[in-house]
Amino acid sequence: MATLLVLAATPAVGTARADAAPIPPPKQFFGFQPGTSGKLVRFSRMEDYFKLLADRSPRVTYESLGKTTLGHDYPLMQISSPANLQRVDEILAENNRLANPRGLSEEEARDLAAKHIPVYYLEAGMHSTEVGPVQVIPDIVYRLATESSPEIKKILDKLLIVVVPAANPDGSHLVTDYFNETEGTSYTRTYPDLYHPYTGHDDNRDWLLFTQKESKLRIGVFKKYRPVVEHILHQAGSSNPRMWVPPWDDGISDARDALQMQASNELGMDIVRGLYSEDKKGVSYGNGYGIWGTADIASFETFMGSALVLFETASLRDLAYPFSSSNGKPLGNSVRSMRNLLPYDKSTWTLEQMVDYLETGVFLGLDSVAKEPERWSLDELYKVPRNAIDSTTGPWAYVLPAGQRDEFAVYDLLKVMDQSLVEIDRATAPFTAGGKAYPAGSYVLKTRQPMGAWVNQLLGNRPYPDARNCPSCPLLMPYSEATDNLPIMFGVTADPIASSFSASLERVRTLAPDAVLMPQPPAAHGAYLVEPASEGVSQFLANLQKQDVPTFRAAAGFSSNGHAFAPGTLVVPPSARARAVLEDTSKATGLAVYATDTAPQVAEFQLKPGTRVGLIRGINNQAGGWLMWQLDQHGVDYKVVSADDYPRLSALYDTILMPDGISQSRIVNGVDPSTVPERFRWARGVGQEGWDQLKQFVLDGGTMVAIGSSGDTAKALLDLPADHVMLPSPFRIPGSLMRVATSAGVPELWGMPAQWATWSEGDTGWRVTDASKAKVGTSYPNDAQPLLASGYAEGDAGLRGLADIVTFDVGQGHVMISATDLNFRTWPRAAWTVIANAIYQGPSTEVPAA
Ligand SMILES: [Zn+2]
Repeated sequence: MATLLVLAATPAVGTARADAAPIPPPKQFFGFQPGTSGKLVRFSRMEDYFKLLADRSPRVTYESLGKTTLGHDYPLMQISSPANLQRVDEILAENNRLANPRGLSEEEARDLAAKHIPVYYLEAGMHSTEVGPVQVIPDIVYRLATESSPEIKKILDKLLIVVVPAANPDGSHLVTDYFNETEGTSYTRTYPDLYHPYTGHDDNRDWLLFTQKESKLRIGVFKKYRPVVEHILHQAGSSNPRMWVPPWDDGISDARDALQMQASNELGMDIVRGLYSEDKKGVSYGNGYGIWGTADIASFETFMGSALVLFETASLRDLAYPFSSSNGKPLGNSVRSMRNLLPYDKSTWTLEQMVDYLETGVFLGLDSVAKEPERWSLDELYKVPRNAIDSTTGPWAYVLPAGQRDEFAVYDLLKVMDQSLVEIDRATAPFTAGGKAYPAGSYVLKTRQPMGAWVNQLLGNRPYPDARNCPSCPLLMPYSEATDNLPIMFGVTADPIASSFSASLERVRTLAPDAVLMPQPPAAHGAYLVEPASEGVSQFLANLQKQDVPTFRAAAGFSSNGHAFAPGTLVVPPSARARAVLEDTSKATGLAVYATDTAPQVAEFQLKPGTRVGLIRGINNQAGGWLMWQLDQHGVDYKVVSADDYPRLSALYDTILMPDGISQSRIVNGVDPSTVPERFRWARGVGQEGWDQLKQFVLDGGTMVAIGSSGDTAKALLDLPADHVMLPSPFRIPGSLMRVATSAGVPELWGMPAQWATWSEGDTGWRVTDASKAKVGTSYPNDAQPLLASGYAEGDAGLRGLADIVTFDVGQGHVMISATDLNFRTWPRAAWTVIANAIYQGPSTEVPAA
């Protein structure tokens, strides 16, 4: 590995095209070497440099894959030998042949792999304040573009390198621009808000549902290039190892492929050896990063076969300044062990060191894979999907029966599978599977397909792995969450079928909501009706509001034309405008609209026309970002509540939403205006006066919806008659789905099933102290069944009997709180109906049956 040291010192010789201008090294182009302490290259300047490299080097191409949430480019570079770059299409065609192994024998695959150029994917900037990984990319690309050593030549000849310099370009722009603009000011240098407009740091937790534009672009890269290695560069805490590299830690899902994981571990080990050979101290592996149990971080590309190499290098002070230990002792873990053979021996850590570690490690990874491309091609591209097709364990298929209570949720779930290359079939006739009869129109997802392990991962409800470092050691908790079970999150039935069955199936080529026919217009005194039991009802509510269509909700169940309608059914008096809105929304959601010539004779609530919705989102509060995303997706008209709004909240809003994470201190103290520029004025504290104004908003008739920890804020604000119960240790629920029972007669719960599962991050529950002033919406049942629906829970018996969702009438106003985060990363989709109901219900007016 000493050759790489030499290689690092090789001067640029410039292999640019004869007719092209010379390629300036990064230091010359940017005016300083990227990775210099206290300095950050703006991402826009970096893009200029990448374009220049592509322009002047036949080894580099540059393109933007599309636009980001904020409208920036999403850059991608291909780097390889000029000969390889001229036949990228052929390389990708071979990729696809290997990765779809049906009809391809191992011998044929071996022949194909022997001459194949595998793809090595390198990514930085998923987390935008982790600046070192982005700053190192120009030098890496420059060296690949210009150096002529045998090592670089081998890498270029044997690999097609795909570089995404910022997986969240918006954040890289925001963070590096802010850093440069605040130079010499009293402001903190770190961008103070979410660096992705909706998800912030959670942009790397979107690998279950691919909600964001950037997520969709990124999985598009994996689908197109099918890399054998996914090499991602991140930063961890300042006191962590100087760099963490795989092998990975436990626990491990039984759906994961052994070969794919071992390739990840072995490549990591090879890199660690190379780093030690270059005397890079403080590199360790194993402990700490066990992300294979669920699919929320390492997602479907690893199920396609990509080996995953993560670098987590230690962070600095104020993004780019040297970090020193407070006691003068060496940083990181100074205890020598088999997982930390060369402990770090200095008390400081600089940006220069960080980029040196990262760059050296990246070239070690490239060098390692370039040594045996045929093995990587055969194992990762061919054998991993082959293993899935040939699997003899786990269910043979999952059946999603036709006619579920929420067909929109079924469609929403299938969209995830469809985006991740899963083969989806649909029955053209009734059939029997696993002893159960299924109607025509049921969906069948077989597991013996290239992405079969992924199907199993997301649709199977597997027990939490019993992962420990030794038999008597404590159970390892997940790095992220303990479950990724989509059917329970979405409230969808997906039956695992153990053995093969025959059914008349057709492949779903274009996934779309089922076509539904609008009914004949009802008589003048009749009404359109929409059932309340779907997440998609939110879109009806929002669209009817936007078009100013008078809308009622039935307070009780009723029957019409022989069809039973549940409490909460939308009752819409007929008009041309009503029909247009209902028809459009029905088409978009696949949800049926009914009509009756005689309006139902039950008490109703009339929704307030143009309900004004405010969101106290909190600066840099991810839950607030996710809530914005959901509101935007469902077309809800809302505004972010500014500190300037507090003196006249009632004049501006009917309903105020508080996502998880809005504490009293966030509202009262907020952001200190002296630490941030004027444009963050909206997030400053409103003091005791503003706090009192928020209270008055509710007392005067406002509606407050406080989700998760914000329920405590609502209680402190309004002295709600309920106690947030603490449970004795051990009590652990590390991101799991917990069963709750729905109470009848609570409007916020209209349309929800009698039992469902809420998302819990170790949340407890509420105990109502004055039942005359509160209504329990959901509670943890006192029955004989486990409360855990999926994931892991310990000490959860104490939850039984406690409430999760509670509503209160306070003064003239109305409040809903929930102990759990009903919108956690938008995963518990089934719970969205509750939030949508709550937004419009508080401001509505009761109308008697007569
Ligand atoms: Zn990170």
